Amino acid sequence: MIEENIVSEENKKNLNFIELIVEKDLAEGVNSGKLQTRFPPEPNGYLHIGHAKAICMDFGIAQKYGGICNLRFDDTNPIKEDMEYVDSIMEDIQWLGYRWGNVYYASDYFQQLWDFAVQLIKAGKAYIDEQTSEQIAQQKGTPTRAGADSPFRNRPVEESLELFNKMNTGEIPEGAMVLRAKINMASPNMHFRDPVIYRVIHTPHHRTGDTWKAYPMYDFAHGQSDYFEGVTHSICTLEFEVHRPLYDWFIDELKKERPQDEDYRPRQFEFNRLNLTYTVMSKRKLLQLVKEGLVSGWDDPRMPTICGFRRRGYTTTAIHHFIDKIGYTKFDGIIDYALLEHSIREDLNSKAKRVSAVLNPVKLILTNYPENQTEMMEALNNPEDASMGSHEIAFTRELYVEREDFMEDAPKKFFRMTPGQEVRLKNAYIIKCTDCKKDETGRITEIYAVYDPLTKSGMPESNRKVKGTIHWVSVAHSIPSEVRLYDRLFKVENPNEEKDTDFRDLINPDSLKILTGCRVEKELENAQILENFQFQRIGYFNVDSDTKEGKLVFNRTVALKDSWQKIKDK
Ligand code: ATP
Ligand code: MG
Repeated sequence: MIEENIVSEENKKNLNFIELIVEKDLAEGVNSGKLQTRFPPEPNGYLHIGHAKAICMDFGIAQKYGGICNLRFDDTNPIKEDMEYVDSIMEDIQWLGYRWGNVYYASDYFQQLWDFAVQLIKAGKAYIDEQTSEQIAQQKGTPTRAGADSPFRNRPVEESLELFNKMNTGEIPEGAMVLRAKINMASPNMHFRDPVIYRVIHTPHHRTGDTWKAYPMYDFAHGQSDYFEGVTHSICTLEFEVHRPLYDWFIDELKKERPQDEDYRPRQFEFNRLNLTYTVMSKRKLLQLVKEGLVSGWDDPRMPTICGFRRRGYTTTAIHHFIDKIGYTKFDGIIDYALLEHSIREDLNSKAKRVSAVLNPVKLILTNYPENQTEMMEALNNPEDASMGSHEIAFTRELYVEREDFMEDAPKKFFRMTPGQEVRLKNAYIIKCTDCKKDETGRITEIYAVYDPLTKSGMPESNRKVKGTIHWVSVAHSIPSEVRLYDRLFKVENPNEEKDTDFRDLINPDSLKILTGCRVEKELENAQILENFQFQRIGYFNVDSDTKEGKLVFNRTVALKDSWQKIKDK
């Protein structure tokens, strides 16, 4: 019933289901008509494109309805967390175009959480269990079979309080005991079967150092942190749907001691996570790729991380368009990587300056062109956008062209260079290929052609019908560069699905191809790190951060050919 309402409203206003909930809550004055969200990353890795989807929801909805979104680091597990991750997370959120209201840390609430745990123990709603995690797991039961009570379930309150204190002094070894909420070992929701809420960890915390040895579990920290901060809509991914009743249970208990907050409570809402083909998104796996040197770092341009995408030349605008296209639903699925690439292409097509680059060069000599002449040809910066103007490219007797653009014995449909056939040199003249020279192995070393001086771009004769157009750079006026070509990181569409194979064995061995000895036009001499270009006829490229004085490095952001269009038209 509710679902139906949502669908019909959605059609009318084009809102997603969470926006509809927020609009309704605001109209009804729920939580005094306040809107507050949070983005709650655990600082145990770099953000990936899945996080971008959550960020666009958490920050986007606050922005849209005049609320605030805070950044909260969910730092309750010192073993995996680090300041390096905190810094990178902040940088990536800002790059996505968002500003948080406040920065909070779950570790700021360790005292309040501790006090709440003590409140539960005193109320007979939590107890110290000295069993091993294996024993506890064995007693859990199954969704259709009730669990068994721990022998410690009914221990005296005083005993639990004393042991809970000891859990925090360092005298209790890790794993020797835990604090569990005492709820219902027969509940059909497994999360209610006396969940563990505190454990002992001796590793120092990246912010609180040695102050704590007893650390709250995610379920015991998240909802309470929302409550302490005044979050109204706690938006997360679908896997937390089954945790929601426990989230509400803790909030109910918390409110018992805080009657002044009668009108306020945070509520949790869930949407589908983003999964993408040909990549992995689990932080554990991404960390493994980095640690084992299978990629060059978190910002390797093949990684699905925000910093990897940024280095590769993906833009903020394109990422936002992609997230808009996939939308927010209640159904998990996997999105085709081609849709992401389509969004990148769409954005770069409108913004990227067109330049000439020859990735696999061979010399072309125009035998009737004067030896010492240089002409400056006009090249449009973007035929889609006249306001981007033009630049000049030097034309000389000796040029570089792509090796693939020449064939000595060409089939009929080969419209590029072959002896006797005319082609147009982009922004310059029509030429006719005459001959070529080879080395002893048969490899072509030089191509010869004559140019027609009456066919310069803009002249009436330049309209002569010629089937092929190729790009070129001048030998004397081009500069060397390295170009890195990337392909999908994994060979298979869904590396997470191959249960019997280690995901590392599914890495595409051809995911990175490094081309040295490429030649690019001089215009690129002063290109800035990250700047986007279109290499005509080839694809979109950007300047890699490895570029330094005298060494220009480009990344292929995405090839020109759009496979998404084809998939969509099927
Ligand atoms: P992992 O399980 O790989 O460690 P995580 O989900 O635990 O990732 P968090 O740092 O806890 O990572 O995530 C912060 C927020 O980002 C959470 O609200 C989470 O729901 C959301 N998020 C994480 N991955 C995705 C995804 N693939 N799609 C959408 N939202 C995501
Ligand atoms: Mg998490």
